[in-house]
Amino acid sequence: PAGAKQDFIRQIVRDDLADGKHRVVRTRFPPEPNGHLHIGHAKAICLDFGLAEEFGGACNLRFDDTNPAREDPAFVRAIQDDVRWLGFEWASLRHASDYFEVYYLAAEKLIRQGDAFVCDLSAEQVREYRGSLTEPGRASPFRDRTVEENLDLFRRMRAGEFADGAGTLRAKIDMASGNINMRDPALYRIKRATHQNTGDAWPIYPMYDFAHALGDAIEGITHSLCTLEFEDHRPLYDWCVDKVDLARSPDLLAPLLAKGLPNEAGKPRQIEFSRLNINYTVMSKRKLAALVAEGLVDGWDDPRMYTLQGLRRRGYTPGALRLFIDRIGISKQNSVIDFSVLEGALRDQLDAHAPRRMAVINPLKLVLTNLPDGHAESLRFANHPKDESLGIREVPFSNALWIERDDFAEVPPKGWKRLVPGGEVRLRGAGIVRCDEVVKDAAGAIVELRGTLDPESRPGMEGANRKIKGTLHWVSAAHAVAAEIRLYDRLFSVPDPDDERDGLGYRDHLNPESRRSVRGYLEPAAARAEAEQGVQFERLGYFVADRHDHAADAPVFNRSVTLRDTWAA
Ligand code: ATP
Ligand code: MG
Ligand code: MG
Repeated sequence: PAGAKQDFIRQIVRDDLADGKHRVVRTRFPPEPNGHLHIGHAKAICLDFGLAEEFGGACNLRFDDTNPAREDPAFVRAIQDDVRWLGFEWASLRHASDYFEVYYLAAEKLIRQGDAFVCDLSAEQVREYRGSLTEPGRASPFRDRTVEENLDLFRRMRAGEFADGAGTLRAKIDMASGNINMRDPALYRIKRATHQNTGDAWPIYPMYDFAHALGDAIEGITHSLCTLEFEDHRPLYDWCVDKVDLARSPDLLAPLLAKGLPNEAGKPRQIEFSRLNINYTVMSKRKLAALVAEGLVDGWDDPRMYTLQGLRRRGYTPGALRLFIDRIGISKQNSVIDFSVLEGALRDQLDAHAPRRMAVINPLKLVLTNLPDGHAESLRFANHPKDESLGIREVPFSNALWIERDDFAEVPPKGWKRLVPGGEVRLRGAGIVRCDEVVKDAAGAIVELRGTLDPESRPGMEGANRKIKGTLHWVSAAHAVAAEIRLYDRLFSVPDPDDERDGLGYRDHLNPESRRSVRGYLEPAAARAEAEQGVQFERLGYFVADRHDHAADAPVFNRSVTLRDTWAA
C-alpha cells in the first residue's frame, strides 16, 4: 500500500498528490541500450516502477537511444527481459528515437526564439572557449548569427550537407554561468551513423540533456528520477523544458500524433538520488563490457558478474534483489554498500523459500557393514524445516554412502564434532553410525571408511534420542547422481577494484579463486530440479540449477551463497 516505504522521493510524491499538483504519477526508466543492465540499474528500476505501482501511476520503459554508434537491438531485447524478470511491466515502451522529429521541431523553435545558434567551432575550440570553474567562458564568434542564418544552417545540417563534427547547434544561455553545463551547451551534433531504430534517416543527433528533458516532457513524466551526477544538469533540464514548453506548443507534437501516440505533454520535475555502489565489484557498463570482451569472465551472464543476467544465473531471485533494494533505501547520501548486505538478502530469501536437499561435494565413501550388501530403503524427508507447504520427498538410503571428506578426521582438532575413528555421529534422518575402520591405499591416502549403524537409533526410535555431537549429511552411493558443482566466489579480491591510486586497474584485482568446479554427488530429488530452481544443500550453502547447462541426467549447480557470511570485514 502507498505509504509503506518512507524516503524523500516518496514524500515529494505524496505531497504532490495531496496538493493536487498531479493527479497521476508518471515515471520512466531510461536505459541506454549499449550494454546489459546491472544491479545499479535494479535500484533505478525498483524506484521508477515501484513508485508508479505504489501510487497507482504508470512507468514507461524508454530506450535512450540517442548515441547510435554504441547501441544494439540485442540489448534492447535483453533489457526488456531483465525488467520483466524483476517483476515489472511498463505502461508504454518508447524509444527516444520515436521523438527525433519532435526534437527537431523543438530545436527550430529555440532558434526562432533566439535561444539557439549554429556554431562552427570544433570540439576542441568549444572546450577552450568554455572556461573553467574559476574562469568564465568566452562567447562563440558564431553566437550572434541571425535567426534566418541559423535556421538555414540547421536545416542544412539536417539535410546532411556538413561533415561529422563540422558544427553543433548550441543553446544560447550564459557563458559566465557558475554552472558549466549552462555555458551554451550543445543541443545537436552531426554524426553520420546508422541508428538501430531509425537507420540512416538522421545525420544529426540530439544531445543527452536536450533529448532526456524533452522525452520526459513529451511523455508527461511527473517525477523524473535520476542519479546524483545529474544534479548539475538540472538547470539545463529545466531550461530545455521551459524554453520548448511542449505543454503549450501542441504543434510540435504533430509528428507524434501522426504515429498514433497520444498527447501527454507536461512539465516534469527532475529529482536526484544517490547511485548504488557495492564493494568488491565494478559497476559500469563500460567496464563490465571490457571484462566480457577481454574474456576475463564467461560472458555477460557469468555468475560472478553483477549484471542482472549474471546475478540471475548465480541464483539471485527477483524477490532477493527487491528485498536488497528495499533494505538499502533511497537517499541523497553517496555510499558504498558492503556486498554482505546483498548476500544477506539472498540468504534470507532462500532460507525462507528454498527446498532442502543433500549433496556431497568432496566425497568419501562410508560402508555400513552391519547392513547387507545391496540393502536399500526409502526415507521421508521434509523439504523445508519451517514450511510444511513445501511437502516431503523420498531419500534413498543404503549400506554404502557418500559423506564429505571434510567431515572425517583421523586426528581431530580441538572441539571437533564430526566423525573420528571409533567415534559416533548422527547421519541426518537415518540414524547413528560408528566408524570402525579406516581403509587406506598403498600411499596412505584414505579411500573408504567402514562403520556400523546403530539399529536402535533409527528415526522415531527411543535410541535415536541419544546425545550425539555431530550430524552429517550424506548421499546413498548406489542412488547418487554425479553432478558438476560450480563454486563461485567474488570476482575481485579488493574492496575497491576501481581505485587506481596504486597504479593498478580493476583487471589487476581479479580473484583467481573466484570460480572452481568440482564433481559431487546429489540425492535424486536434487538432480530432478528444474533449471533455475534454488535449493539449500544442507550444511553446504544455497545452490541453483544452472539456467543453461543443467539437465536431470547431467546436473550442474552453481553456488549462490554460503550458509553464513564467511567473509570477515
Ligand atoms: P553505466 O554508468 O553503468 O553505463 P548508465 O547510467 O550510463 O550506467 P543508463 O542506461 O543511462 O546507464 O542508466 C539508466 C538508468 O539507470 C539511469 O536513470 C541511471 O541513472 C540509472 N542507474 C545507472 N546506474 C545506476 C546505479 N549504480 N545506481 C542507481 N541507478 C543507476
Ligand atoms: Mg546514461
Ligand atoms: Mg554510463
